[in-house]
Amino acid sequence: MILDNINQELLILKEKKNYRSLPQLTHEGRDVIVNGQRMLNLSSNDYLGLANDLSLREEFLKNLTPESFLPTSSSSRLLTGNYTVYEELEQQLSTMFGAESALVFNSGYHANTGILPAVSDARTLILADKLVHASLIDGIRLSSAKCIRYRHNDLPQLQRLLEENHSMYEKIIIVTESIFSMDGDEADLQALVRLKHNYSNVLLYVDEAHAFGARGKKGLGCAEEQNCINDIDFLIGTFGKAAASAGAYIICRQIIREYLINKMRTFIFTTALPPIQIQWTSWVLKHLTDFRKKREHLLQISRQLKEALSDKGYQCPSVSHIVPMVVGASEDTIKKAEELQRKGFYALPVRPPTVPEGTSRIRFSLTADITENEIDRLIEIINQ
Ligand SMILES: *Cc1c(COP(=O)(O)O)cnc(C)c1O
Repeated sequence: MILDNINQELLILKEKKNYRSLPQLTHEGRDVIVNGQRMLNLSSNDYLGLANDLSLREEFLKNLTPESFLPTSSSSRLLTGNYTVYEELEQQLSTMFGAESALVFNSGYHANTGILPAVSDARTLILADKLVHASLIDGIRLSSAKCIRYRHNDLPQLQRLLEENHSMYEKIIIVTESIFSMDGDEADLQALVRLKHNYSNVLLYVDEAHAFGARGKKGLGCAEEQNCINDIDFLIGTFGKAAASAGAYIICRQIIREYLINKMRTFIFTTALPPIQIQWTSWVLKHLTDFRKKREHLLQISRQLKEALSDKGYQCPSVSHIVPMVVGASEDTIKKAEELQRKGFYALPVRPPTVPEGTSRIRFSLTADITENEIDRLIEIINQ
């Protein structure tokens, strides 16, 4: 039977405790309810707490009518789906970032799997950080470029690879995240920019999925914080996390935007996001600068948790709102996560292959609507 193999593979996944299923959970504001138990959600990407902000939604809804509520674009933007709200959002983004141009995509996954194949060919070398997100790995796989992964944030190694390879390729693209998903640590973007500027054929691609909205005075991300927005050739971010919406963007030169519109398959061959979603994104972004207090609070509680974990002897590389508690063995990690859940905190274990063997962890993903008292309570439980 053709399905026997599939069944066999599922059994193996179950045996290895790597089987996944969709969790049954309901949301109530900041809480999730799982198996009848209410817990504070410490695993959300709603970094500014905007997805829970009713007043933001109420204001937005005031201006809507059945005529202006457009739940579908009915087409790719290259055909009839190019509603004016898209170009308005792109103009808004270019202005916010002080950049030449912007292009909006259906998701961060579309962005990363579409841009890299579009801009590279067999004469391209991609140098990617060892810990980049699966969507970037898939983008690299779909491209015809050669790829070498460098050790996480190891800039001396990256420098050696650039030196050895720059004359052998037409172009080299360095691919990194700014804040990394699993360690919550950060790339030194300024140092990457300096490295890139040593060569005429090196481009820099930075995914700010976890940083957009959460970092920088204006909330534009680590590139704003490190003052190098215009030195990054492909500056990517998603609207699905701190911006409490859906979709993604690239900030880039005009010529790159034009090229992507012509070549990027995940942009061309898909129905554009609903105009109403774009309007909501635009609405949130209009307020992004105002959320500075939220960003400061988020950093404050993140430091509080990180320091407590370090004091307790946990290895914790985080410098952001993603705060891992590296336990080591998978079994122990699962037990710890279950204990936290029993005590009202919805924290999830992350195990191999998502993280390296022996570094299973509880991954806290904090949001700005969590209070210092709640973090204190969490720390008490961790210290018990
Ligand atoms: C979440 C994430 C993405 C995907 O973005 P979506 O808009 O959710 O598709 C891409 N890159 C990184 C680093 C992410 O964390």
